[in-house]
Amino acid sequence: RGTSSFLIVANRLPVDRVGENEWRRSPGGLVTAIAPVMQRRDGAWLGWTGAAGEELKPFDHDGMHLIPIPLSQLEVELYYEGFSNATLWPLYHDVVATPVYSRVLWDAYRAVNDRFARAAADAAAPGAVVWVQDYQLQLVPAMLRKLRPDLKIGFFLHIPFPPGELFYQLPWRNEILEGLLGADLVGFQRPGGAANFLRLCRRLLGVQHLRNAIQLGDRTVRAESFPISVDFGELDQLVREPRIQQRAKEIRAELGDPEHVLLGVDRLDYTKGIGQRLKAFGELLDDGAIKPDEAVFVQVATPTRERVAEYIRLRNDIELRVGRINGEHGVLGRMPISYLHQSYNKEELAALYCAADVMVVTPLRDGMNLVAKEYVACRHDLRGALVLSEFAGAADELRQSYMVNPYDIAGMKRVMLAAMRATPHELARRMRSLRRRVATYDVDRWASDFLAALESGEPAAPRE
Ligand code: UDP
Repeated sequence: RGTSSFLIVANRLPVDRVGENEWRRSPGGLVTAIAPVMQRRDGAWLGWTGAAGEELKPFDHDGMHLIPIPLSQLEVELYYEGFSNATLWPLYHDVVATPVYSRVLWDAYRAVNDRFARAAADAAAPGAVVWVQDYQLQLVPAMLRKLRPDLKIGFFLHIPFPPGELFYQLPWRNEILEGLLGADLVGFQRPGGAANFLRLCRRLLGVQHLRNAIQLGDRTVRAESFPISVDFGELDQLVREPRIQQRAKEIRAELGDPEHVLLGVDRLDYTKGIGQRLKAFGELLDDGAIKPDEAVFVQVATPTRERVAEYIRLRNDIELRVGRINGEHGVLGRMPISYLHQSYNKEELAALYCAADVMVVTPLRDGMNLVAKEYVACRHDLRGALVLSEFAGAADELRQSYMVNPYDIAGMKRVMLAAMRATPHELARRMRSLRRRVATYDVDRWASDFLAALESGEPAAPRE
């Protein structure tokens, strides 16, 4: 097989291993949105398989050409768990945990980015479009441009891009900005991320920008926002299936048919504000504002990054909190918090969304938060309330949600109660508006808007 005219470069390949040589497409919108483009343009996807030390030849899977990039065990620790998840992740999420700054981690990050860039340079046809994804690969655009100036290079950052007050801490701040400037189009979740990037380029590198564009010699680099989204149509259709509605009823029955079901669905990450929302719920029980037999809080906390120290601490902290609240307010056979340190598939999540009266999404900082949009896509019945943190990217679009500041526990208590007590009419009014937004700006729209802006070199069409 020769080179490809369309390449995705991401930390992970879009497949999970299910057997010796068997793969399954990973869940998630990114693959769904990009797979049709890949098939249309005979594209290829470069990324890691998820297994340390594994060296595999390129292979095909459901119409996609996959090119594995190997990572050694040490590189997984230094580049992935280290620089990506212990340095960049907390730094880009408002320093809600303390970032680790270590030259050993940086060296590994640079070396792995270099490997991805070389592989992309080898796989790309003349003039190909290359779309690099996310914070693990911020040096790839410039490295790749150096090897292959003929390519059209796009970059999208799925997580927030911080303001100078935080970004200045990074000892390698100029290198990161220079890495991103190798792209023709740098995409962010929110307009604020693009603005932070442009301002930092001016202050640290001395390059001026005119609106969203930076002129570098004969090249233009644009920075713009493209809020990612979910496959609205797929979820909307899924929840209309009787089996999902049946399962939602069962879930409520299993919970003891309480008057109110509140739901949180998050990776067990310190950016998600799980502790804050449980604190608010616990205090509502303490105050007697909620009776233990009228409400159940279901918290799905999916295991994640379990070898990073900060995540081990977080798990202990959350589980202590859950235990205390349940110990104090539970009765035999019935606990106010149903805590699940497990991962669920799309069907079960959809049923949970349908079963929940109040969806509680309270990150301290989040690039977008797809769970909030999934909940909206699943509520064609126009019931259900979305409580949403103003620190989630989704807050820019989901203006008719019950907005909260997750640091303000008293405020969160008030809003959670208001959401629980809202009339069906009020819920429908809000949900209708939320659904209109997510239905229009779904994940296909996100991918096509980004690619259209990348290929035309024109600014993206404005949104209403
Ligand atoms: N998710 C899942 N199973 C779970 C929990 C979450 O498939 O048990 C999915 C969820 O449906 C959503 C994604 O994981 O699509 C989480 O995306 P989000 O943007 O909310 O947060 P992230 O984990 O990317 O920080």
